[in-house]
Amino acid sequence: TPVERIRNFCIIAHIDHGKSTLADRMLQLTGVVDERAMRAQYLDRMDIERERGITVKSQAVRMPWGVTDESGRTEAYALNMIDTPGHVDFTYEVSRSLAACEGAILLVDAAQGIEAQTLANLYLAMENDLTIIPVLNKIDLPGADPDKYAAEIGSLVGVDPDDVLRVSGKTGVGVPELLDHVVRTIPAPTGDPDAPCRAMIFDSVYDTYRGVVTYVRVIDGRLSPRERIAMMSTLAQHDLLEIGVISPEPIPTQGLGIGEVGYLITGVKDVRQSKVGDTVTTARTGATEALSGYSDPKPMVFSGLFPIDGSDYPALRDALDKLKLNDAALNYEPETSTALGFGFRVGFLGLLHLEIIRERLEREFDLDLISTAPSVVYDLTMEDGTEIEVLNPSDFPEGKVREIREPVTRATILVPSEYIGTVMELCQSKRGNLRGMDYLSEDRVELRYTLPLAEIVFDFFDQLKSRTKGYASLDYDVEGQQAADLVKVDMLLQGEAVDAFSAIVHRDKAYNYGVEMAGKLKNLIPRQQFEVPIQAAIGSRIIARENIRAMRKDVLSKCYGGDISRKRKLLEKQKEGKKRMKNIGSVEVPQEAFIAALSSD
Ligand code: GDP
Ligand code: MG
Repeated sequence: TPVERIRNFCIIAHIDHGKSTLADRMLQLTGVVDERAMRAQYLDRMDIERERGITVKSQAVRMPWGVTDESGRTEAYALNMIDTPGHVDFTYEVSRSLAACEGAILLVDAAQGIEAQTLANLYLAMENDLTIIPVLNKIDLPGADPDKYAAEIGSLVGVDPDDVLRVSGKTGVGVPELLDHVVRTIPAPTGDPDAPCRAMIFDSVYDTYRGVVTYVRVIDGRLSPRERIAMMSTLAQHDLLEIGVISPEPIPTQGLGIGEVGYLITGVKDVRQSKVGDTVTTARTGATEALSGYSDPKPMVFSGLFPIDGSDYPALRDALDKLKLNDAALNYEPETSTALGFGFRVGFLGLLHLEIIRERLEREFDLDLISTAPSVVYDLTMEDGTEIEVLNPSDFPEGKVREIREPVTRATILVPSEYIGTVMELCQSKRGNLRGMDYLSEDRVELRYTLPLAEIVFDFFDQLKSRTKGYASLDYDVEGQQAADLVKVDMLLQGEAVDAFSAIVHRDKAYNYGVEMAGKLKNLIPRQQFEVPIQAAIGSRIIARENIRAMRKDVLSKCYGGDISRKRKLLEKQKEGKKRMKNIGSVEVPQEAFIAALSSD
């Protein structure tokens, strides 16, 4: 296809606003997938995505579309639809997908209005100078209020509300007009066909049979089959085994020219050798300057993952090794805990990333796991000037600390105006600083805050949802570090620290944390033959204390109450085998007590 007839676009939408359904309709209308082969959410391949209704990995499909001009002549265009991940943890991947496009469809549920993440991605698209096509979806819904939301997104994008398109991905109404609109309003790609080749990697997926499949958008020059290519961030060279387009299955082609979007296969086995954001060039007479915007994925949230059954440790290691092939942002190293045994300290992009990995480990690899409370990375300057990075609260150093710095985020919260008060109160209690506030419409407000990442990771989102009956939405981006008055709180059983319960918290919250954990543990640990003190301590200073009284002869204390419903499945499994006990000093603690104490509800 000549470059003037290529259109590259993505769809920016909040989860559940209908991106996958709309993509399905486009695939059908353009004849790329026929009725028989059609199954709902064709492009969402991973099971876990389908079940949770989220798209984690972006993909690109090429669709032919004919547009008839005034003179009645029909011209054939190639539309490349690049699917962007919708979630907050994957902002970097979103930014690379956007960089591969000239335009974006802003898709908003006509019964819901725009959400915080969508707004954040819209701003990102605008910063990248993409042509934005605002579209209201689900207009077939009885509860849809397209006039109201057309006004809202019209003013955000800067178009007349009448120019906001209205479609239904479900019935297909308005979708052909939307495709025509894509051709008419989104500019064709530009680039220098005679310059050395530069192609940007916007996704890279591990396939068991073929190795890594890399998705690229060619910016300058051309990539041809059987060429030797180089990755500009590492200078590593590979032979191009196959190059082609996805429509909707991979189709090998005679190469990719400027503006084209497709895939390449080199036989590498690990996505780390083909990184999102990197520039691909030819090994001979290649480009000297990489495309801008590349950065290494950086884990922001850490958690200890431990197999409940210690003999599963090698299986857990193998499973992580496998997942890593397809996830350049996944990082881990072995960790040993007195309470939980052998496991791994795992780094994630954020909470959803953590949940996805955990769920895949449990589901695809059949592992039962305990995870410790998520924590962030702290940078410490000690009194003697040494700098220390702390990824695990139990590694917090003993010596005198001059300064602690924690990651802070720029957070955007969209909320119906009636909840402004309660949301501000919440942000205040989470050490937030208000940066600004805007009314999107009469009854919806955008609040902008600086919030410590540790507070967001703790339970911010749950509280935000419950305080606003689910109406608030949140987006955040780590923006840097700030110094804060933080301390490590240890939990001691009979004077001995239980590493899995150590936490780094703000000094003002240390007492509450200590009291709460001590109370929890008191309820979970069975009585012993002797009295067991439970203490919370900052260094050598005790800040809270509880006692588990000694067992009376006539009491069969086999119950250790507490709300453990969330882990019932695991507990039942446990009961089948013999009860596993861990000794902390001379105190016998059932492993279930650790699991229950570490689960947040
Ligand atoms: P995604 O998370 O943005 O990919 O959203 P999906 O395409 O998975 O759709 C989320 C839910 O909305 C599904 O239950 C769809 O059936 C439903 N849905 C999507 N588009 C429409 C639409 O145009 N009308 C109606 N009534 N429902 C829709
Ligand atoms: Mg989807």
